[in-house]
Amino acid sequence: MNGIGMTSQRTRARLIERLREQGIKDEAVLAAIFEVPRHLFVDEAMASRAYDDVSLPINYNQTISQPYIVARMTEVLLAGDLLSRPLGRVLEIGTGCGYQAAVLARIAREVYTVERIKPLYERARKQLGDLKIRNVSVRYADGSVGLPESAPFDGIIMAAAAPTLSAVLREQLAVGGRMVLPVGMQEQWLYLVERDANGFRETQLEPVKFVPLLMGKA
Ligand code: SAH
Repeated sequence: MNGIGMTSQRTRARLIERLREQGIKDEAVLAAIFEVPRHLFVDEAMASRAYDDVSLPINYNQTISQPYIVARMTEVLLAGDLLSRPLGRVLEIGTGCGYQAAVLARIAREVYTVERIKPLYERARKQLGDLKIRNVSVRYADGSVGLPESAPFDGIIMAAAAPTLSAVLREQLAVGGRMVLPVGMQEQWLYLVERDANGFRETQLEPVKFVPLLMGKA
């Protein structure tokens, strides 16, 4: 039973059912969400709600993303392409508590994740370390410029919304790479940017609600 208790097993299974109802189909993504202990990424006071399909507050005015959105973005990143698995190198901008990074760690060989708020960065690093997740590198930096020194990436996920689609970030995609990101201010849409030998293709996916991407370190 993977060391997961019976109660938790049931609440996690309910979450997976809920994600299926909302259209998440990728079994690898559903398995990753089932296995990552989301209750360890939220404050103890919130732990009883950890497997509800909602975003929850973490400190510093930030949130842990809703499981649906984590699943959806990861599924879009994988594109249903069974041949390209596991993904190679992935960048996440906006580590927050580290939950999405822990999910990505099960889907990609190498994950880089960047956070601009130092105490969040420190906590996420510790949490991922405690869980013995070794293929995630957590960086304290301004992710609005990506992570040029580790580029190119096969996938990029942004967990905070920029007002416009950044040309700087897409240049850090490998050919064949995919980037999933929220764009906009009050009204935000999820976008997919794909890079092939000829250039970039953008697809608008669905309305979303993310915290804003902020500049500089805090
Ligand atoms: N990925 C998280 C969600 C984090 S919320 C999860 O798994 O639940 C978005 C995060 O993006 C916040 O922690 C915020 O501090 C961070 N962020 C905002 N602007 C940033 C920037 N320019 N560089 C790095 N992180 C940023």
